[in-house]
Amino acid sequence: MKVDISKTYEAKEVEGRWYQLWESRGYFRADAKSDRPVFSIVIPPPNVTGSLHMGHMLNHTVHDVIVRRKRMQGFNTLWLPGMDHAGIATQNVVERELRKEGLSRHDIGREKFVERVWQWKEQYGGIILKQIRRIGASCDWSRERFTLDAGLSRAVREVFVRLYEEGLIYRGKRLINWCPRCMTALSDLEVIYQPVDSKLYYIKYPLKGRHNTFVEVATTRPETMLGDTAVAVNPHDERYTKYKGEAAILPLMNREIPFIQDDVVDPAFGTGVVKVTPAHDPADFEMGQRHGLSQISVIGEDAKITPEGGLYRGLDRTEARKRVLADLEAQGLLSRTEPFTHNVGHCQRCHTVVEPLLSTQWFVKIKPLAEPAIAAVEQGSTQFVPSNYAKTYFEWMHNIRDWCISRQLWWGHRIPAWYCDECGEIAVSRTDLDRCPKCASAKIRQDEDVLDTWFSSGLWPFSTLGWPDQTDDLKTFYPTTLLITAYDIIFFWVARMMMFGLKFMKDVPFKAVYITGIIRDAERQKMSKSKGNAVDPLEICDRFGTDAVRFALARMGAPGTDIAVSDELLDSYRAFATKIWNAARFIFRQVDEADRLPSSADLKHSNLALVDRWILSRLACVTETVNRSIELYNLHEAARHVYDFFKHEFCDWYLEMSKLDPERSKPVLLYVFETALRLLHPFMPFITEELWQNLPHKGDSIVIAAYPEFDSELVDERAESQTELVQEIIVKVRNIRTEMKVDAKQTVSVRIATNDPQLTQLLSNAREYIFKLAQVNQVEIVPKLSGDKLAAQAVAGGLALEVLLAGLIDVEAERLRLKKEVEKIQREVDKLERALANNSFVERAPKEVVEENRRRLADYRDEAAKLAEGLKRLE
Ligand SMILES: [Zn+2]
Ligand SMILES: [Zn+2]
Repeated sequence: MKVDISKTYEAKEVEGRWYQLWESRGYFRADAKSDRPVFSIVIPPPNVTGSLHMGHMLNHTVHDVIVRRKRMQGFNTLWLPGMDHAGIATQNVVERELRKEGLSRHDIGREKFVERVWQWKEQYGGIILKQIRRIGASCDWSRERFTLDAGLSRAVREVFVRLYEEGLIYRGKRLINWCPRCMTALSDLEVIYQPVDSKLYYIKYPLKGRHNTFVEVATTRPETMLGDTAVAVNPHDERYTKYKGEAAILPLMNREIPFIQDDVVDPAFGTGVVKVTPAHDPADFEMGQRHGLSQISVIGEDAKITPEGGLYRGLDRTEARKRVLADLEAQGLLSRTEPFTHNVGHCQRCHTVVEPLLSTQWFVKIKPLAEPAIAAVEQGSTQFVPSNYAKTYFEWMHNIRDWCISRQLWWGHRIPAWYCDECGEIAVSRTDLDRCPKCASAKIRQDEDVLDTWFSSGLWPFSTLGWPDQTDDLKTFYPTTLLITAYDIIFFWVARMMMFGLKFMKDVPFKAVYITGIIRDAERQKMSKSKGNAVDPLEICDRFGTDAVRFALARMGAPGTDIAVSDELLDSYRAFATKIWNAARFIFRQVDEADRLPSSADLKHSNLALVDRWILSRLACVTETVNRSIELYNLHEAARHVYDFFKHEFCDWYLEMSKLDPERSKPVLLYVFETALRLLHPFMPFITEELWQNLPHKGDSIVIAAYPEFDSELVDERAESQTELVQEIIVKVRNIRTEMKVDAKQTVSVRIATNDPQLTQLLSNAREYIFKLAQVNQVEIVPKLSGDKLAAQAVAGGLALEVLLAGLIDVEAERLRLKKEVEKIQREVDKLERALANNSFVERAPKEVVEENRRRLADYRDEAAKLAEGLKRLE
């Protein structure tokens, strides 16, 4: 009985069947007790509110290719999945739902609100995890974690308490980034700087005790002057040394402020004099600390002027700016304004302009944590792929500031600190407190704030494995082998995991960090929801087949390189899947139940035809290249090689050549196809499983079958070069047939010139392939070609050959056709030459257009020359 598969490849139908089976059979489960070598990796936990986008699809494809290969190689392979509770993002979603009911979170209170978020999470959260299954990601779902689950919450507390006890977490009044809309502190990383067209205002500050003498300060934020506590110049700025030790009178507020000198003031900015507002500017805050200046907060958490702002109290910050400027103008103190573009910080979540504010928050002292994290990468304990990302990491780590970890939100890990109203004690505790540990009073309350989401995701590589308990999982799978992430979260996430991993596990969290690019559209624009060019990966998978999309991403995605996704690209890999399917149908027609899969030893001992030795040799070499490329994380190289092998060498050549002697070639055909499916499986898991199951095979599933390994005994360089020569002859004869418009049903006669007895032998042995694949009826080996004008000549692998065309083509009709063709192309050449000789076109047209024209011109000239040559032959 012959195996029968459907005529066309129905990706969706095939993909629907396999994943559940793989999962239910436990193929993706790691084993903490196994003594096999370990490969472990944790998923970058997607937000619980998230849904799959192309960035995830790329990231998970890279993961899955690497993970599946390791599993097939016999590693004890763990890919740990899970989700992040995503503080602000999730809280915003549920607040939006509440608003539809006309409620705010304050109306229902903290406890009820958090309950609502959990309900929401159970109902809608984690859609993305189902989607991740849909694209074939082979995660160990028995180990799925959530940053807010009980185990991870315990780890968070443990870390907080230990850092606090060591003095590495402190509570303090510092200048922080504040979002007046989200009403929460933000870390430096949650602030996005964007250039804004604004103005630079020059304001005159009178000097105390000097009649009609002013210094001019330049500022982009005149409303903050209400909180000025000094004016400053550079100590080396000779224009102002005469005012050293004096004071200015702050306009509008009539406050005396000192005239100070500080190295950070840039003499070239504005007039060289700057106002100092320690409560509203990070650089001024630090200057204020150096000079013991007071901090006056004039803008509040609601972005309105505080009572400290005198007459301006209660005004919104933009309204206050107008009023301050109008009043300065009226008093003749606004000397001029200039247009000015500068970077303004915006909230990453809601794009409101961020206000630097003084606020009492919790901080992590970062330097003692950053130093070992820098050293670990310097020493190569963790490597970046590509390596240039280490530079970005160092730059950021060297300039890192203390990390503000408290957020004024309700959804997240609540800060484990309690304040005693009786004795003022602050107690930090692993367990919830109901009495003050110092005075035993019951009048204590827990800090209202929660921790920054990145605090818990920073623990992900070990908290997910059971830390602080010394579990088998932790012992077996930490440190993880690899982390795969896009370049935009090196700082947010990678740096934090490095710091926490080294601190609490005394070892790096991963030995390598693979940085993927980002996905762009066909016009190379970054995909985003707001631009409307984002594509839904699941829809794309429905249209082109998941395997094809995965393959396209792996093929195009060199580490750190962006990928432009277009329909044409995806279509070409759908065609690849179809090609494999069709090859399988051809093969299955020859297979019946009695056939078994030969071993490589069987093949080595049998009498193989030239092309059989050739394809086995090619398979061995491609296996070596694919393994080496994936090992170096060059998935795009591996994909290219497996593609070229499968599509061109196996399908285009070998299947055709094997038809010459199908019974003899059958064992090789089966062996190569089965091996190539295993080689391809990590990239295209679904189609390979479907076909592999229909072939004679060993084992239950391709998922756990062995990954092909290089077999040097199959390499046969002589068979390769000989087969390539035969192929080149076939290609050249086919080209001539096409160019000369020889009827497809006509066979032709070929002469090949050589005196070499070995080549003569080879060519006469291989003539059947030339007959069959190039429609040839005779191959004549001659010492010299005829030079007959109706014999088209070519060179193949250094051998001159000619195809005899007398009687096969209508010479006069062909001559006329070629002549017309040459004239037509010449007109195109002239047109392009004129355009490119025109300087104003070359200068004004977009560079790509000019380049494209140059390329077309070269192509046309080439074609014209070839046709002219053919024409000459006929005259
Ligand atoms: Zn905001
Ligand atoms: Zn107390």
